[in-house]
Amino acid sequence: MTTKSKLMFVVTIMLLGLTAATIVNIALNFREYSIKSATDKAEMAANIVKDGITAHMVNGIMDKREYFLNQISSTGNVEFLRLIRSQNVIKQYGDGFDKENTKDAIDEKVLKTGEAVEEITETANSTKLRVTIPYKATSDNTVANCLTCHNVNKGEVLGVISMQFDITETRNSGMVTVLKILGINLLFIFIVLLLMNYFVTPYMQLFSNLQEGIKKAYSGDFTHEFVSKVGGDAKNVVKQMNSLFSKMQETFGDIKFNLATFIPQGAALSNDPLHEAKTIINELSDIYKFKKTIEHDGSKNEVYTRIIDILKLKYHVGHFAFYEVNNVTMERKLIYSTEESTICYEKTNKNALECRAHRTNTVTISTEFPNLCQACLAFNSNYVCIPFSINKDVSLTVSMTSEDINEVELMKKNISSIKHYLEAAKPVIESQILMEKLKDTSLRDGMTGLYNRRFLEEFIDKIMSQAGRNKDIYTVMMLDVDFFKMVNDTYGHDVGDKVIVALSKILKNSIRESDLAIRYGGEEFVVMLHNADSEGAMEVAKKIHSAFAALSFDVGTGDALKKTISIGMAKFPSDGDTIWKCIKYADTALYEAKNTGRNKIVEFTPDMFKSGEEF
Ligand code: GH3
Ligand code: MG
Ligand code: MG
Repeated sequence: MTTKSKLMFVVTIMLLGLTAATIVNIALNFREYSIKSATDKAEMAANIVKDGITAHMVNGIMDKREYFLNQISSTGNVEFLRLIRSQNVIKQYGDGFDKENTKDAIDEKVLKTGEAVEEITETANSTKLRVTIPYKATSDNTVANCLTCHNVNKGEVLGVISMQFDITETRNSGMVTVLKILGINLLFIFIVLLLMNYFVTPYMQLFSNLQEGIKKAYSGDFTHEFVSKVGGDAKNVVKQMNSLFSKMQETFGDIKFNLATFIPQGAALSNDPLHEAKTIINELSDIYKFKKTIEHDGSKNEVYTRIIDILKLKYHVGHFAFYEVNNVTMERKLIYSTEESTICYEKTNKNALECRAHRTNTVTISTEFPNLCQACLAFNSNYVCIPFSINKDVSLTVSMTSEDINEVELMKKNISSIKHYLEAAKPVIESQILMEKLKDTSLRDGMTGLYNRRFLEEFIDKIMSQAGRNKDIYTVMMLDVDFFKMVNDTYGHDVGDKVIVALSKILKNSIRESDLAIRYGGEEFVVMLHNADSEGAMEVAKKIHSAFAALSFDVGTGDALKKTISIGMAKFPSDGDTIWKCIKYADTALYEAKNTGRNKIVEFTPDMFKSGEEF
């Protein structure tokens, strides 16, 4: 039942109830009134008859009474009129007329008791009113002293006057009145309902329109257009709802579009953007937390352990193996397995190309084709193997297995989510691999312990491609000791070496973990400051510059040697779009510092190039 029908129904019931109560009340009152009125009239008529008979008696024309009684009987709605004599009167004056001898139980009762009786007899078609009053002997001389003629005592019943009236018409006119009132009321109800329908319908339409829109919104559809035939506040509400819905639709559309790649399989089935957004945000938040955690992990193996934990605890994978593949030697190393042995043939570890997932670089799912991977030796298990490339040298493989087909379906559903975690771990694993290589001593300068030029040549491209992905910035500093040759020449190479080692210590102490210090040449150094702004970088340069200037070197003769450095600076990527360009520009700035008096810090500007020198 619609709200409108409900409302109309309730109002109709209320009005009908009111009408019924009114009609019953009026009908009862009317009946009471008409009975009272008829009874009064009937009593009056009976008393008139009584007085008439008395008058006949007083005038001595009692024998002429029949005419009088007939006249009364024939008037209006009198059905019968009887005079009934008491036994005493019959004894004294005889039976009287025939009519006067007809009597019934009521007449007998009134004769006996002397009490008037009024009685109404109702049938479906008629209503009769019977009035029977006693005629008692009076001794009042002013009217008539009955005792002069009758041998009775005062107050004794001489007879009764019995009359019956047909009051059907009175009843009928009452019923007609009630019916008229009922008709008027029903007409009123009809008009009320028409008016209600006219005024309420637009509100009800607005209401169901709002309901429809909100219902659609629950299932994620915000395209509903609200309309209202009602003006005023309702129009405003409709306007606000429309603008709210279009904003929601736009926002959810954007969210869906922007985060589409993060939607885990299955979540999209809900077709509910709110639910999807929640799932995506939860997923992103989990991945963000995961990423933040592994960034602080000390080694590649720690990161691998976290991936293994995610597989176990988040995705509840019961059986799986986790491999690292060396893309150069094609050797595959088992990092972790939930079982004692994996489901692959041993030869797969010697040649990772035996693994179909690794070879084709696509997820391999055994339910798609029987005996899909030839390297698999488990024929009663299903498997989902995910290959994942970290860089050109290293790849990972996650091999999940189960005998339960439902579990395999769940694994399939989680493939893209698991890949998101691997994707988040990729740069961290990559830099851990890099760090491992950096520990290689061939990349370090033996005297100072700083990275050497070979390191720069081998790894700078890798570091920079990572910087490009992360939108990192670097400040490149080129440092050179002023008039260093003179130290060697004057005090010997040992003192010269001391100066070089002292400067390298200052460099180590002045930079952060993520920065790099490289011994670039004899007494030339390159420092790369990671994500430092211009002011910060200049501060570091000044700190190095003044710390070195403050040093005093013992040259053995008791003299203290003081030296200075010159620094040239350039910024990546604002000055040069490759790190090699920035090293060159920093060197240009250093050259400028040397040429303009040394012992200073100079930032690169493009006007430092002589024409044709730029590359
Ligand atoms: P400038 O202010 O222009 O830099 O003048 P400079 O004398 O410092 O000139 P330059 O930078 O060309 O001098 C480099 C010298 O550093 C040449 C070389 O003998 C010396 N040198 C290079 N490697 C070492 C080393 O390992 N130990 C010592 N003691 N000296 C070195
Ligand atoms: Mg020098
Ligand atoms: Mg030099």
